Amino acid sequence: MPEVPEMEIYKNYLNQWVKEKSISHVNIFRAKSINLESTEFTRLVIGKQIKSISRQGKYLIFHLDDGHALLTHMMLDGRVFLLTNNSDSPQKNVVSQALYLQNEILISSAEDIRKRIKELPGKPSVVFGLSDGSILFFCKLTLGYLHYLDQEQLRTKLQELGRDPLDPNFSAQDFSQLLERKRGMIKPWLMNPKNIAGVGNAYSNEALFSAGVIPTRLISTLSHADKVKLFDSLVSIIRDSIRLGGDMEEPFAVWDDFTGGYNTYFKVYDRAGQPCFVCQEAIQRAEVGGRNAFFCTHCQH
Ligand SMILES: [Zn+2]
Repeated sequence: MPEVPEMEIYKNYLNQWVKEKSISHVNIFRAKSINLESTEFTRLVIGKQIKSISRQGKYLIFHLDDGHALLTHMMLDGRVFLLTNNSDSPQKNVVSQALYLQNEILISSAEDIRKRIKELPGKPSVVFGLSDGSILFFCKLTLGYLHYLDQEQLRTKLQELGRDPLDPNFSAQDFSQLLERKRGMIKPWLMNPKNIAGVGNAYSNEALFSAGVIPTRLISTLSHADKVKLFDSLVSIIRDSIRLGGDMEEPFAVWDDFTGGYNTYFKVYDRAGQPCFVCQEAIQRAEVGGRNAFFCTHCQH
């Protein structure tokens, strides 16, 4: 599941390639992925310019020039993919393919598109044709969604979220305060978006390992130093992952060889049975709060 780093990388790419473009075509292949009736959604979205794209937790928010926003959450396996059609694009080999699709986009089925574009990260749920001829795909929004919201609805939705780990005003002190008088184990707390937004299974495991804190540790037993170390670990791992390309198999575009660069950097996540890079003991896996925790019993306490 994409977490803060992967969504931040999407945001950066989208601001580079999609910002200030208008939506000229809309295709809904999965009506359940949107919050309005398909023709109504299409009518409202067509012709709108995307002013900018922001991220909060795991949400991406497309700010439209009508004051509304498109809010998307990838959930488990949603993916964004762009077919660029720009003379400056390194994706020149698919420009004609993109144009062809652009003309035909209204009659193509999701299966047709997928057959034609082998690189697509999955079955498209919602597709936007953009004013520069590029095509933006929201794929596999089975649990995920793309909702057209007014400012009030957007505010309500975002209010449910806890602090974003990349918020420059979020400090170790704030983090420590959030943990005060909290009960239960640290890992489920870290993964609850109402506490910290956008941290899922992969990065919570990594941050806990880096801080030397075992996932089952009771919050009430953490020292102030533990909390500060955990916060610093979390933020620095997230920043490293963004710098290196995040953890995702599927590229953002055909020419994207950056995404996924962090896949090989995980120290405990998904490494059960393999030797710890620090002490050589086997990495353990156990269910903690309903999710798989990966940890080293020698290095984490
Ligand atoms: Zn170890």
